[in-house]
Amino acid sequence: MTERHYPCEYCDTEHPQEDKLVTLTLQRKGRWYIFENVPARVCPNCGHRYYDGPTMLRLEEMMQAEPKEGHAVEAWAFSLPVGE
Ligand SMILES: [Zn+2]
Repeated sequence: MTERHYPCEYCDTEHPQEDKLVTLTLQRKGRWYIFENVPARVCPNCGHRYYDGPTMLRLEEMMQAEPKEGHAVEAWAFSLPVGE
């Protein structure tokens, strides 16, 4: 009996993930970080993104240090009221 392989752990698509460069936003200590051109594998069915360990480690390191390579962008943040 062969075990069926699901390429995506969030849906039951049989389509393989696609290699893409995506924009990823992360928040650390109340500060938002926007990473562009992040290599990811994207599920063509549900859109879930998978990042590999070394990539995430690198982003974590970039968020520890004061940004040198980054450039500031203007952003608007809205919080929706809870419980409405
Ligand atoms: Zn999926």
